[in-house]
Amino acid sequence: MVSARDRRGRGGLPGVLKGLAATARTAVRPSHTAEYPDVAPTLPPRSRGVIALLEENCTSCMLCARECPDWCIYIDSHKETLPAATPGGRERQRNVLDRFAIDFSLCMYCGICVEVCPFDALFWSPQFEYAETDIRDLLHEKDRLGGWMATVPPPPALDERAAEPGEVAAANRPARGTGLVGGGGTRPPRTVRPRVVRDPPPQEPS
Ligand code: SF4
Ligand code: SF4
Repeated sequence: MVSARDRRGRGGLPGVLKGLAATARTAVRPSHTAEYPDVAPTLPPRSRGVIALLEENCTSCMLCARECPDWCIYIDSHKETLPAATPGGRERQRNVLDRFAIDFSLCMYCGICVEVCPFDALFWSPQFEYAETDIRDLLHEKDRLGGWMATVPPPPALDERAAEPGEVAAANRPARGTGLVGGGGTRPPRTVRPRVVRDPPPQEPS
């Protein structure tokens, strides 16, 4: 049986010429194929590849482990007593991090732990090439998490029209006393309080 498509092909351009024309058109078009792994992909700066740990900043406060919806952060720590810094001073206690691990076979890359850390100890790295043949190897202990810090990109530059950060404004503010006698500058204008004008007391009839 001859199909309608075959009948159309006999009357017009032979099929082989159509095929060659399509091949020629496609050959000159730019290719969109990603040549991974020979060519590394260009990832957006905020890609969530793996979580890196800056161990020096971690105070073992457990906030990230408590907020993690998958319960895949494991932290162990102990308290250490530091001697008093001055004679007669008080001893101080601090937490020492014994273990910090993230199980990436459970992690859903929500980023809550990075957001809630109050001490900037967790960062996103765009690295994603850590697939394992054994799922147990996706449990990254603190040494491996710390190793990812080398791949964390620097923070993006501030918007040039953004307001000056509070810390920078405070650092640039002149020190107290500048501009007074001996300060070498000009005295800042003083604020003058407006005087309150009260109504006169009512006169007694004579
Ligand atoms: S990204 Fe989300 S799921 Fe993964 S460790 Fe952090 S809080 Fe837990
Ligand atoms: S990573 Fe941050 S939130 Fe988690 S225990 Fe350390 S200091 Fe606390």
